[in-house]
Amino acid sequence: MENNFDLIVIGSGPGGYVCAIRSAQLGFKTACVESRETLGGTCLNIGCIPSKSLLNTSEIYHKAQKEFNNLGVEAEKINLNLSKIMNNKKKSVLTLTKGVEFLFKKNKIVHLKGKGSISKNNVVTVTDSMGKKNNYKAKNIVISTGSIPTSLKGTKIDEKIIVSSTGALSFEKIPDELVVIGGGYIGLELSSVWSRFGSKVHVIEFLDQIIPGMDKDVSEEFLKILKKQGINFSLDSKVKDVKILNNKAIVSFINNKNSKKETIKCDKVLVAVGRKANIGQDIIDLGISLDKNNKIKVNEKFETSIKNIYAIGDVINKGPMLAHKAEDEGIAVSEIIAGQAGHVNYNVIPSVIYTSPEVATVGKTEEQIKKDNIKYKVGKFPFLANSRARVNNDTSGFVKIIADEKTDKVLGVSIISSLAGTMIAELAIAMEFGASSEDIARTIHAHPTHSEAVKEAALAVDKRPIHF
Ligand SMILES: Cc1cc2nc3c(=O)[nH]c(=O)nc-3n(C[C@H](O)[C@H](O)[C@H](O)COP(=O)(O)OP(=O)(O)OC[C@H]3O[C@@H](n4cnc5c(N)ncnc54)[C@H](O)[C@@H]3O)c2cc1C
Repeated sequence: MENNFDLIVIGSGPGGYVCAIRSAQLGFKTACVESRETLGGTCLNIGCIPSKSLLNTSEIYHKAQKEFNNLGVEAEKINLNLSKIMNNKKKSVLTLTKGVEFLFKKNKIVHLKGKGSISKNNVVTVTDSMGKKNNYKAKNIVISTGSIPTSLKGTKIDEKIIVSSTGALSFEKIPDELVVIGGGYIGLELSSVWSRFGSKVHVIEFLDQIIPGMDKDVSEEFLKILKKQGINFSLDSKVKDVKILNNKAIVSFINNKNSKKETIKCDKVLVAVGRKANIGQDIIDLGISLDKNNKIKVNEKFETSIKNIYAIGDVINKGPMLAHKAEDEGIAVSEIIAGQAGHVNYNVIPSVIYTSPEVATVGKTEEQIKKDNIKYKVGKFPFLANSRARVNNDTSGFVKIIADEKTDKVLGVSIISSLAGTMIAELAIAMEFGASSEDIARTIHAHPTHSEAVKEAALAVDKRPIHF
């Protein structure tokens, strides 16, 4: 096999595999090293894709149980077959990981199977599952080794009773009671899944709001919706420890404000308190600079502190840990290495929580804008006043657009809606083109669609919504 490459990518997640494809398109002789059995990284194997499969199935089940009858779609008995649901999830994952394999072949990318480590002079050693080592030389190396879950001090994840997101995507039985530590997007998506399947779910969050960093207004509305769906919350609470007793977990936590202590006994505990960069020993041995959070430091060209070694995705100190951010960095870094002007706009990265309704945001929050001392206007439009949402019995949520008071340029948007994740793309494009709220307000939106609420929110920025 060929041992010399123009570019070797380590890791085949959305950052790594997209980087490999773009690099091959640009004419580089490219290889991608992956230690997992299948390509696609966290996202395809144990992240975005399996979680969305379970979110979709659990939502259908929930609707069939709670909503079909009211609509006149009468079903005698709705049964839940968890092993079939999990098989369907596995099938989706397999189709997509095979899809990446196909794209590698199509683009003549060499798939190096095993664990990659970088030694001096741009040599990548790949150790396969039998322990056999092979060396490959590369003019350029891109590290895209992603991230791994973190835990709490004193709480050991065993993936049986105390699980990470990986364990919570593969329960063999529906837990009667599930405690979720962490009210971020991973914790809330998986809370929704298991709550819809019938678990009693209790979320414990250290801060006084869910989804820290989100527009407070939006986070408060989202919390109300989730509570109405039956999920319990203890905010502003710190988990002290989790003990296992007779196959049950006992979670002890304490309220940050009044120091009140509480315990909950449950079948499973999901620890969803964040993820950390996946830094191999080779990166430390090479002396690649890391930031205070142990993420690889890169400059605007994604160069690490060592020449011809680049890094992208969850492992770097830039932007949110999201698949589409990693993908764009994969494209940008290949183009930069090819001497082109690869670029990622960190100000316009949409972010979506795939609950029901979905929550999607792009740009700055109202709190950030206030902090930056920018004068702003807000336009809000509720889905209660949107005809399509009413027809679909789908009226929770709103669109909120924040624009600069003087220039009217859109600074940030939040949407709570069943279709928020799809709708936010329009706003991302608008922001990329530097649109004003007036530009959006004067763009014709098809009727009847949820997107009309975007136009109405833009009209509301200038206090002239039509339907509210
Ligand atoms: C439950 C869950 C749900 C998520 N949902 C979403 C979502 O809906 N939308 C979204 O945008 N993001 C989501 N994410 C986040 C998303 O998965 C990550 O941001 C994304 O996968 C990061 O891509 P990456 O390429 O940087 O790394 P990863 O996807 O983590 O890929 C890194 C790859 O590198 C491999 N690797 C590591 N070290 C080596 C080595 N030394 N040699 C060879 N291979 C190596 C790993 O095996 C892995 O396959 C979710 C994450 C989780 C956990």
